[in-house]
Amino acid sequence: GSMLPQIPLPIDIMGEWKNSQGIDLNDRDTLLDTARKVNAVDFQPEGIDSVHEDPHHPSGRSRAFIEATRTSNDDVHGAITAAQAAYPEWDLRPVEERAGLLEKFADVLEENRIELMGLVVKEAFRSIPDALSEVREAADFCRYYAHRARVDMPSIRLPGPTGEYNAMKLEGRGTFATVSPWNFPLAIFVGQNAAALVTGNTVVAKPAPQTPMIARRIVELAHQCGIPHDAWKLVTGGADVGAELMSDTRIAGVAFTGSIATAKRIASTLLVDEERPIIPFIAETGGINAMIVDSTALPEQVAADVMTSAFRSAGQRCSALRMLILQEDVADEMLAMLSGAMDMLYLGDPGDPATDVGPVIDRDAYDKLMSYRETMRPRWIKTVEAPEEGLFVPPTMISIDEIEDLNREWFGPLVHVTTFKAGKLKETVQRVNAKRYGLTMGLHSRIQKSADIMQTWARVGNLYVNRSQIGAVVGSQPFGGEGLSGTGPKAGGPHYLPRFCAERAVSIDT
Ligand code: GLU
Repeated sequence: GSMLPQIPLPIDIMGEWKNSQGIDLNDRDTLLDTARKVNAVDFQPEGIDSVHEDPHHPSGRSRAFIEATRTSNDDVHGAITAAQAAYPEWDLRPVEERAGLLEKFADVLEENRIELMGLVVKEAFRSIPDALSEVREAADFCRYYAHRARVDMPSIRLPGPTGEYNAMKLEGRGTFATVSPWNFPLAIFVGQNAAALVTGNTVVAKPAPQTPMIARRIVELAHQCGIPHDAWKLVTGGADVGAELMSDTRIAGVAFTGSIATAKRIASTLLVDEERPIIPFIAETGGINAMIVDSTALPEQVAADVMTSAFRSAGQRCSALRMLILQEDVADEMLAMLSGAMDMLYLGDPGDPATDVGPVIDRDAYDKLMSYRETMRPRWIKTVEAPEEGLFVPPTMISIDEIEDLNREWFGPLVHVTTFKAGKLKETVQRVNAKRYGLTMGLHSRIQKSADIMQTWARVGNLYVNRSQIGAVVGSQPFGGEGLSGTGPKAGGPHYLPRFCAERAVSIDT
């Protein structure tokens, strides 16, 4: 309605590109049938015995995985050597050829949807709907970047005021290193690497140590599609393998998604050596994401959107809601509604189609979240029962006195709650901005002026009004933040690819 600014749709950006469709899990029969097939997917990582007998007990699993799948230091540097050798031929191919290969790869990801969902559910403990979203997002990234490459990569002619021929173009830079997270082991892994590849780079990819098998299968499928073996190399392991990769001065750029601490460690490695070229560093990190709710918001909608934003994926998304800021006069009413909604959450096995909240990724994450949650016990507003067995962190609302009292990201299903006074929206937003994170922010309000204030003052990459604040859609909601939340450019947006490229201009006297 009248709340929406009138901005025309840029046809050149959207072009012929369309989001992946997938299957409809709101249909009960489809959901049950899909769950049955997904649960039947065989997950037997090579070289590791009975690694996954019980999906509730990932503990110990990560360490066994890391040991069994770790790439040796020699092989890390060997992968870079091979990828570098493959670079010139790959970069010289017409953009249409690389874009076409990525589109074929997107089709293959969709054709193998059930198997990939099975790996995501069994290796990363994501729910069935989350696993389906990953396949869709991965296919979207491939198709969107293929489309964008066709728009961005061809040479453009520039004016020659004195009669000379001027033109410029984007080209690959060499061999990129990508470092991706376990919380989107399929979508973000594919997104980073698709962007590097379609622009003519070759790539050495390091997935999170918790999810090497998904990555292995994806790269195998990519090679079967015709993406050259040495154009997309995989190395697996933990922080030590990452450090080895970053120490190689032949790397031409880095795309990273993960913690701010790791981002800073990588950035300093890249800068320390005087001889080393200065290379692009694309980082997407965390957030202390707030949702502001005023007295005109619809309580039922707020309840549904808070459940999704704070607790879906067990809160293990960098976009997830961490701090709910309720207008003082409606706080009690809203909290009663939210408590009721929390009682409806079903905590269960990732493969159970009824699950709303599954276990967290591993023992370390579980211990950190649970011990913090315990220290906040006097401030609990509401928590729920969790299954006794397994790494379930019970979704919990925790009260804090001030916005300033929350100063780090807790990567799990814990949401902090505080209040603001009517008429103080701008000041509230500025206090959130002052944390210097800048990923997502949400507003629930029926007042146009309030939406305007948020659009003017919120210093975040993704602002969501009257809806949940997770689940950014490729090409429609380009995702990524500023400040402590990342460097930009936004994934799934029109400015992502150029950061992977060298810009080269030529002038010819005629
Ligand atoms: N793009 C995802 C979302 O909007 C979050 C990505 C992440 O957690 O890294 O939910």
